[in-house]
Amino acid sequence: MQSIELCIVGAGPAGISAAIYAARANVGCLLLGGTPKFAADYEIDNYFGFPETISGRELRERGLAQALRFGAQRLDELAVGLHAGENGGFTIITPSRRIGSCTLILATGVARSRPNVPGLAAFEGKGVSWCVTCDGFFMRGKPVAVLGEGNYAANQALELLTYTPAVTLLLNGKTPSMDEAYRARLGEAGIAIRPEPVAGLEGEAGLSRAVLQGGTPLDIHGLFVAVGEASSGDFAQALGLERSGSFIAVDKEQATNVPGAFAAGDCTGGFLQISKAVGEGAVAARSAIAYVKKRCREAGGETAAQNP
Ligand SMILES: Cc1cc2nc3c(=O)[nH]c(=O)nc-3n(C[C@H](O)[C@H](O)[C@H](O)COP(=O)(O)OP(=O)(O)OC[C@H]3O[C@@H](n4cnc5c(N)ncnc54)[C@H](O)[C@@H]3O)c2cc1C
Repeated sequence: MQSIELCIVGAGPAGISAAIYAARANVGCLLLGGTPKFAADYEIDNYFGFPETISGRELRERGLAQALRFGAQRLDELAVGLHAGENGGFTIITPSRRIGSCTLILATGVARSRPNVPGLAAFEGKGVSWCVTCDGFFMRGKPVAVLGEGNYAANQALELLTYTPAVTLLLNGKTPSMDEAYRARLGEAGIAIRPEPVAGLEGEAGLSRAVLQGGTPLDIHGLFVAVGEASSGDFAQALGLERSGSFIAVDKEQATNVPGAFAAGDCTGGFLQISKAVGEGAVAARSAIAYVKKRCREAGGETAAQNP
């Protein structure tokens, strides 16, 4: 397992800003995440220091180059799983590796939208869950399904095998976007993939089946939603972070309620703008730097999380 003092999840303005501060302070830092939204070709006219309009793409490339110049490491992959260790520290799972980090900054932008599955809301807390780490235990030995099409969903399905052998992946009519390696691991684990859209969910006191388009019933007691990429909301649930609505709750130092976990940018809500994200990234980095010096180095090294 790769080990690092600080892992920053999300390479948008907040994450890049945090990486610049952390790397300049000589904290070993890994910046994780794909192409940010703001890197699209739209024009930024309201960011300090650019009297001429600058494209989001150029602003991002400049920021990334700056972070790399100071020694930040970069991994162009999304996190598909995140766990807190029993003795502190975190484990971050990407399609290619596991990363143990002493401290963490979440900077994953705004949470994604909900899938349009009839009955989803009615069964939330009664079988529908957004978090395998939180609710997988309650499904011990029961048939369950994961709703999603990408690496995140595949990883959730594989994690569910800890609790039950009866796991199905529901693509809900979407084209699978998971890596070949994940697809192979699903096959080896005997996880069936159903391509049909989910027409509805049924049950009395709790969820007992999903009905697929065409009328095929699938007996399941749990449905774990993992559509698209893992969002800040998914990570918040997995780590037990307090939330304010759909955003991660933080204090003035960008600290969450979990020691060593900080958050910055759009995922914390408020004014959803680059200037605010960059500012919060800097503050989160300052807090993470202090945490590394106090809690990680004084403890005699990085407190990498135990493998879940
Ligand atoms: C069309 C549009 C126009 C805009 N115009 C402006 C403007 O002119 N001026 C302005 O100030 N703001 C503008 N904004 C808002 C601005 O883009 C955001 O406020 C800003 O990008 C927030 O930065 P962030 O770093 O918090 O999140 P983001 O920029 O959203 O970056 C988050 C990053 O995290 C990554 N991520 C998500 N999940 C994971 C995961 N599981 N693992 C790893 N990485 C992950 C994402 O891929 C992304 O790279 C605009 C937004 C949009 C949509």
